[in-house]
Amino acid sequence: MGKKGKRSRRKTINAADRASIVAVQTKIKEFNEKFSKSLSLQLDSQAANELREGIKWIEAKKLELSDTLLRMKLQTWFVENKLIFYANLMGLELSRRNFDGVIQIYKEHFERCNIDVKMKNLLCAFPTLQLNYHEALLRQGKGSIDTFISLSKLHSTNGRQENGLKTDLRRSADFLRTIKHFDAAIALGKQLEALTGDRLSLATTYLDQYIVGDEESLPTDFASNMTQVMQKHKTESNETEDFTTSYTVSILLLAQSTYLSHQLNDNTEVVMRKAIGFIEEYLDLILRAETHCSTCKQTGTESEVQFVCSGCRVACYCSIDHQRMTWKKDAETGMRFGHEVLCPVMKAYRKWRHANDNGDNERVSRLRRRFERECLYCLSDGMGLKDKCFKK
Ligand SMILES: [Zn+2]
Ligand SMILES: [Zn+2]
Repeated sequence: MGKKGKRSRRKTINAADRASIVAVQTKIKEFNEKFSKSLSLQLDSQAANELREGIKWIEAKKLELSDTLLRMKLQTWFVENKLIFYANLMGLELSRRNFDGVIQIYKEHFERCNIDVKMKNLLCAFPTLQLNYHEALLRQGKGSIDTFISLSKLHSTNGRQENGLKTDLRRSADFLRTIKHFDAAIALGKQLEALTGDRLSLATTYLDQYIVGDEESLPTDFASNMTQVMQKHKTESNETEDFTTSYTVSILLLAQSTYLSHQLNDNTEVVMRKAIGFIEEYLDLILRAETHCSTCKQTGTESEVQFVCSGCRVACYCSIDHQRMTWKKDAETGMRFGHEVLCPVMKAYRKWRHANDNGDNERVSRLRRRFERECLYCLSDGMGLKDKCFKK
């Protein structure tokens, strides 16, 4: 500071003003680091509390600093920081399935706000906020699906390049698939593939559409393509250590499509064993993530009681609500079956693992056969492939 000539107007700013702004910047940075850390540990409810705390702090500071902000022309900057906290909170509430919360934040802080062009970060995030809001509305049985679809299309064609676009496209496609808007989900899946090479969303939609009833919808090279799609996805997941979210779903998809190809094309024991192997791999991952809520994926903290499914004693939930939410169908990932279908498989697997660890040979082989039977039943009846597979 204090360079000759340049920015002489700033000379009117006193050192005290500058010091208090630096203090605010530091504090905001601290809040950001704290909540990002909680988020990376998947402590979502803790992260949400930290954000709320940050917002409260900013609100309190706003009054105290109003003269300083005016003198330094930093009002916009200050407001943007607060709104970014709200934007982060909205995303968090959506993944925690607090749809009322999402709607409320949007209505109170974004619906009528004019985002200043200087608020660059917020401007980038705004399309995501709109999508989050409309998704929350639809999940509450309100809102318009046409608006959601046209927003998704608009956002994916107006040249956004940042990471947020990929997440938005995948989220929207997953959601549209869940509510059986397959054409729109496929269109977004294709855009996602074109932009990022990610074919997982598209593959899931094709398979789901096929299961739900459209015999003609499955591309002929689907099964052979799936193996490639999954291999690529697995490598990427290993790199990012993203075990608790997308990979666990994709591995079930792989089990389904392997089973499908077993029934339709290659009716050999080897292929069937491969399908069972994928379910086993899936269950290993679930057991590894044992303290995560099966619905919202957040880690249980010591203060929060974890609910364990009494059927399998494997799946954990942060609340009874979250247990109910994914019992019939897994709404978030867009799979058309819920824990109800997986519960017996998990139970059989837990029993087999337990016997195996204790080395009781006779029981081990009996329980293993039981587990494999459950796998096949789950793949054919449970996941909705039975009618498709045995028609031929
Ligand atoms: Zn939960
Ligand atoms: Zn269970």
